[in-house]
Amino acid sequence: MVKIKKTRLKDFIDFVQQEYDVFAPTEVGKKTAFKKIDSAFEIIHDIVNTDRSPKEVFFPQSEVLFEYGKDGLKTPERKEKPIAVWGLRHCDTSSLTMLNKVFSDAHQMPDKDMFKDPYWKEKYDNSLIFNQACNTPLSTCFCHWFGRGPFDKTSSDIFVVDVDDVFLLEGISEKGKAFLAKYEKAEQATKEDEAKITELKRKAESFLAEKTDISELFEKIGKLWDEPIWEEISGKCVNCGACTFVCSTCHCFDVSDEGKKGKGKRIRLWDSCMFQLFTKEASGHNPRGISTQRVRQRFMHKYNYFMDNYGVHLCTGCGRCVQVCPVNLDVRELIKKVLDYKIS
Ligand code: SF4
Ligand code: SF4
Repeated sequence: MVKIKKTRLKDFIDFVQQEYDVFAPTEVGKKTAFKKIDSAFEIIHDIVNTDRSPKEVFFPQSEVLFEYGKDGLKTPERKEKPIAVWGLRHCDTSSLTMLNKVFSDAHQMPDKDMFKDPYWKEKYDNSLIFNQACNTPLSTCFCHWFGRGPFDKTSSDIFVVDVDDVFLLEGISEKGKAFLAKYEKAEQATKEDEAKITELKRKAESFLAEKTDISELFEKIGKLWDEPIWEEISGKCVNCGACTFVCSTCHCFDVSDEGKKGKGKRIRLWDSCMFQLFTKEASGHNPRGISTQRVRQRFMHKYNYFMDNYGVHLCTGCGRCVQVCPVNLDVRELIKKVLDYKIS
């Protein structure tokens, strides 16, 4: 483990930028989001969850897949450097590993390679992921329900802890260890520094609200498809889609052709299963025409279907949906309702 004085962070970020485009939490209008930075001075350090999730670094809200015309198809060339992301919290690094399963691990398909998404893979496979410990989790955080925690080091290349006037950095993956070894200006961390991490971790865990045991969630929610619980839960949802857009793991998208006179672009755009038009078919039939069906789909996907496909819940407990929902539909309450529900 090494340490870098906060006053020297600019030098370290400059060093990272020699090899990578660096994305970090920063202000975008009145919101916070992970955006490409020019300098370390743009980084907001005291934020736990950015308003917008970091999925957009690798899966942008709008992305040109290719251009078409009379001469055929042209895929846009990516001229940027590989991506490094500074300031991710563990919930967000684990959300990226979940999205990577969708875009890169089509293990259910007979011809797996055909279903790997080159746009995602080109960015994510070459990235350097910094995972920063949460010293002060929020009241909306519930990562611990999923067996994770504010000081979880997995799903990253380099683990970072903000301690007094320094950042402590530990290489986790081989890539992360090799990168840190190249930065010769870092000092070795001391035993006292490491002891401070233990104390910060203890404090951070004490901020987390009581844990709910979700070991039965997959099986229980799987039995509720036809139960009236969904009418009760969806009653106040206005289907605004905000929860899906801020969610670090939601990944519904639409593909649209924009062009005229024989040329144009095919664009991938975020969409939401909470929108009525998302499943409307050309015939006019809509298998999820009412809100109850859409709310059920969102939560069945998160806590049953994805687990069935990939062995993990499609939720990290980041709490962004709790913060943003205009009618206070709290996913933690939904989970508790499901677990307590008695099938008649
Ligand atoms: S469902 Fe909510 S808590 Fe879970 S990952 Fe999405 S935004 Fe975070
Ligand atoms: S943010 Fe709330 S009201 Fe909007 S779609 Fe999600 S659950 Fe429904």
